[in-house]
Amino acid sequence: MTLLSEIKDSAIVENLKKRFLNDWIFTYIGPVLISVNPFKPMKYFTHKEIDLYQGAAQYENPPHVYALADTMYRNMTIDNENQCVIISGESGAGKTFVAKYIMSYLSQVSGGGQTAQQVKDVILQSNPLLEAFGNAKTVRNNNSSRFGKYVEILFDSGQPVGGKISNFLLEKSRVVTQNPNERGFHIFYQFCRGMPSEMREDFGLTDPDYFNYLNLHQCYEVDGTDDVADYAETITAMTTIGLIEEEQGNIVQIVAAILHLGNIIFTEEGNDKAIVENQEWLAFPAFLLQVEKAQLEKKLISRVMETRWGSKTERLDVTSNVQQAETTRDALAKGLYARLFDYLVKKTNEAMKMKTKSNGVLNLGILDIYGFEIFQKNGFEQFCINFVNEKLQQIFIELTLKAEQEEYVQEGIQWTPIEYFNNAIVCQLIEEKRPPGVMAVLDDVCSSQHGVNEGADTNLKSKLMENCRKNQHFQDNAQGFAIHHYAGVVSYNVEGFCERNKDVFNVDLIELMQSSRCLFIKNLFPDVVDRSSKKRPITAGAKIKSQANDLVKSLMLCTPHYIRCIKPNETKKPLDWEGVRVAHQVEYLGLKENIRVRRAGFAYRRPFEKFLHRYAILTKDTWNKWSGSPQNGVLHIMKSAKIRQDEFQMGQTKVFVKAPESLFLLEESREKQ
Ligand code: ATP
Ligand code: MG
Repeated sequence: MTLLSEIKDSAIVENLKKRFLNDWIFTYIGPVLISVNPFKPMKYFTHKEIDLYQGAAQYENPPHVYALADTMYRNMTIDNENQCVIISGESGAGKTFVAKYIMSYLSQVSGGGQTAQQVKDVILQSNPLLEAFGNAKTVRNNNSSRFGKYVEILFDSGQPVGGKISNFLLEKSRVVTQNPNERGFHIFYQFCRGMPSEMREDFGLTDPDYFNYLNLHQCYEVDGTDDVADYAETITAMTTIGLIEEEQGNIVQIVAAILHLGNIIFTEEGNDKAIVENQEWLAFPAFLLQVEKAQLEKKLISRVMETRWGSKTERLDVTSNVQQAETTRDALAKGLYARLFDYLVKKTNEAMKMKTKSNGVLNLGILDIYGFEIFQKNGFEQFCINFVNEKLQQIFIELTLKAEQEEYVQEGIQWTPIEYFNNAIVCQLIEEKRPPGVMAVLDDVCSSQHGVNEGADTNLKSKLMENCRKNQHFQDNAQGFAIHHYAGVVSYNVEGFCERNKDVFNVDLIELMQSSRCLFIKNLFPDVVDRSSKKRPITAGAKIKSQANDLVKSLMLCTPHYIRCIKPNETKKPLDWEGVRVAHQVEYLGLKENIRVRRAGFAYRRPFEKFLHRYAILTKDTWNKWSGSPQNGVLHIMKSAKIRQDEFQMGQTKVFVKAPESLFLLEESREKQ
């Protein structure tokens, strides 16, 4: 890309198109890898390529994700630096796919004995497991990740010794409802269809269309997905991460209970009071959850209110109306599912916990989150997802566009600045405390007394208008508000924002679950119930904000690598190229600016010491015995490697090398030593 004769969006798109139609899905902008989803299996992911890319210099072979994975692995082992790769792109662009290729590459090239093998198995098997529970068919992607994940693999002397998965904001509303043409999480269909029939009977599992949580839009099939085969894979994955048969049974039990909860329907009896329409519906979910049927009913159709009379507290059961009862039922289903998901992540982490202490551990992180998304109707979930994407774009800008240019100035290198759009202003609009951004206003509305009452969302809308309209990236509209994100304008419908942000799993439900005779279920709810506590539980918005900021912090501690995924069409078909769609992505991903900065500047830079350490081997004088300043050492190496004077510049602390070719030369001579 950096060699294009003219750097403009149309030329970039044209180049990508040519390559795509010739089955080349990968392209470089310097060290940044662009990957275009081919929507068909490519033949260059075999053992042959693993061998080819292992230890090879970037320029020796066609661009490939294996080359990037190899660079990460080698940087880590040679330079002793933690590495991370940030994979971004919109929903369906191929992020999860490429993340899996990286894991598989690392697992194949890194050696190790039994422990290493176990870590590798768990890491690889965590993919089908978490995808079964955390992915679903959406209109954008048949296997869309509905949670974000950061997988860190720990290495000691180049061998995997442990790992850790951090997960972000599961879209749990999908448990109880979906948009037209979308499904719930894959696991529901896998259990309903793939399980042996006698086991299915035990758990009351049958065709998905029997369950209200799955039959809303009658969407059951997914092109290219075989729920029965995937079921078997999920079970294998569970076994690999160490879930014994009994635990697996408990998991099925909870998933089935959730489905049966959804079939409890309420009707109104007189005075706005909800009753369960048919008592029979209660028996099975109560049995699966191992709670008293009467208790389950009571907690669904009423809630405990406490009133204080001086020092005395009185507890009152207040009846709910139908809508409230439905909200409670759905909250129970969503809460159970979210806790089950966290449990699976926890168990996976336990299975790859480091067995022995060691000081030399380095980590390599792979970030694969849900991509930026725009639907016809966008709710609180899209708002959070797009916020996280906004933060990642910010890292990219900070580290590749801003920092790169600032560094030239700092190091005293001559430089003409390049303009780019900095999305920091959009991040501020969302997360700033003062003046209050969207999240602060939302929390404020939720914490006021009427926070979850009807009208809260309307209140939110007017408060947002009041506080945010000065920001040019904010707009008011009929159903709510719109944000001009780096990747496009998204209109958000405020309906449900307050309830979803509050995310209350009320105390009554926690008590109900704690009364379960099933230890597994009980243990999912270790919460200490304190009704008198005035402390407000953390909101979903605040949680995702702090998670996103923690993530940014950990990413900033690593040497970053980037993969920018591009979705070539909406049809999900191979060789189908929608130029306008790609042009839009090329534009908002900032590829043009990326190329400009890259081309005008210096492809490579390293602190003098690190450079010396890596290339000392090239001259007799520097190898193991250089006593002069590192700076002079670098000059000495450059001279003896015959790198032309105009090909590099010495900064204050680092050496800057212009074209990668010079570096290739150095690398090559290094290999020959
Ligand atoms: P989301 O943000 O919704 O999770 P994503 O970017 O993770 O989206 P993927 O699930 O990786 O998208 O890719 C979507 C689909 O595209 C895959 O299920 C697969 O069918 C196809 N696909 C993606 N990348 C490749 C590839 N390299 N080779 C073949 N098919 C691919
Ligand atoms: Mg994904």
